[in-house]
Amino acid sequence: MAVTAQRPFLIAGGGIGGLASAISLANHGVRSIVLEQASQFGEIGAGIQLGPNAFNCFDALGFGAKARDGAVFIDKLRLMDAVAGEEICHIPLDDAFRAHFSNPYAVVHRGDLHGALLDACNDSALVELRTSQRVCSYDQDGTTVTARMADDGVVTGAALIACDGLNSSIRQQLVGDGAPRVSGHTTYRSVIPTEQMPDDLRWNAATLWAGPKCHIVHYPLKGWNVFNLVVTYHNDVTEAVAGQPVSKSEVQRGFEHIHPRAQQIIEHGNDWKLWVLCDREPTAHWIDGRVALLGDAAHPMLQYFAQGACMALEDAVCLGQMVGTHDTIDRAFAAYQQERFARTARVQVMSRLIGDYIYHPAAGMADLRNATMQAKTPQDWFETLDWLYGYGRPPQSSLQGGQAYVT
Ligand SMILES: Cc1cc2nc3c(=O)[nH]c(=O)nc-3n(C[C@H](O)[C@H](O)[C@H](O)COP(=O)(O)OP(=O)(O)OC[C@H]3O[C@@H](n4cnc5c(N)ncnc54)[C@H](O)[C@@H]3O)c2cc1C
Repeated sequence: MAVTAQRPFLIAGGGIGGLASAISLANHGVRSIVLEQASQFGEIGAGIQLGPNAFNCFDALGFGAKARDGAVFIDKLRLMDAVAGEEICHIPLDDAFRAHFSNPYAVVHRGDLHGALLDACNDSALVELRTSQRVCSYDQDGTTVTARMADDGVVTGAALIACDGLNSSIRQQLVGDGAPRVSGHTTYRSVIPTEQMPDDLRWNAATLWAGPKCHIVHYPLKGWNVFNLVVTYHNDVTEAVAGQPVSKSEVQRGFEHIHPRAQQIIEHGNDWKLWVLCDREPTAHWIDGRVALLGDAAHPMLQYFAQGACMALEDAVCLGQMVGTHDTIDRAFAAYQQERFARTARVQVMSRLIGDYIYHPAAGMADLRNATMQAKTPQDWFETLDWLYGYGRPPQSSLQGGQAYVT
């Protein structure tokens, strides 16, 4: 039995979480209106890593082929010691990995992924997209929810899903836990043409150079036309800033103590922009009557597991499934939170821990990291990562011809 609603669901925010939620609800026959604050839908022009759990979600949304278009299927996740300038270990993303997790690990351009989700929403008769709609608050009366806009407009629906990100207004009304925690770590992003990437670093890998209080990530993107650079260091800032242009020298300042081979990557970046990293403590309070939090609005995390968007996609699939299998919105939302809270909280908390113990340690703690990670076999990695990447994996018997998905 599924929820039946006279009115559409309202979705505040048209990012990856909001659009995926609209598709997921539509797949279960539920209409929605996406209310996006910006004057047009879009994403920043950078890359995003997607684990097999994200591809399991795309498949569940009926979106697998589109999601794979334009993805770069990298060969390995490579961990480098940024002080020694040498590889610590790598996780092969080969056929054995894909067979184990039923899906690949890939990197995509955010704009391509978001654009494909937007196309799917535009193609659905059950999804209405509205821009310049900044949701500030909500009221509800037991059978409807009214979203109140910054321009005093109102929209009434059967339920409201808050997909309005890290600084969610709806979360402030629902949870009231103030501003996000500022981590004191800042990430700088640049995208460069592949020919500007040093020859000996043009690897088909998501590479992470781990150094004391800093790390550097790079991977190819957009059919190998560009490389995505994401570099992070502890600069102890206390103010949350997002997307601000910044000089190269400010970026370089955090990496003066690491190997020249890693430092040179920053030299090649242009048009750097910064994001001060923020997250929150987990909360098990995602629901208020007919209002539910989803994605970063529910569980913002440091990006160190590269899983924030993957978690938003999982939330979206789960929400649709719960609405499709429960008779009331209350029951569907309670089941959604029950299914999603502990898992997303684990990723939030562990994202902090891998920052401290894997990406940013120095001296003896870095030696411990190297020794521990070098001792792992590919099979060990599968077991270590199973809880994370195995989520949503279809039962083996449902895979075509008994074969896992192989690109
Ligand atoms: C540097 C960095 C790298 C990352 N790398 C990865 C990665 O490799 N893999 C991964 O899975 N995740 C990654 N993430 C995390 C990922 O980007 C987020 O978790 C994901 O974008 C969250 O999606 P969302 O839809 O919940 O929120 P958002 O993407 O923040 O979208 C929110 C949307 O709501 C709109 N909005 C905001 N307020 C309102 C309002 N009041 N009313 C209406 N609309 C509103 C916004 O304009 C936006 O469109 C990274 C994050 C960072 C910072």
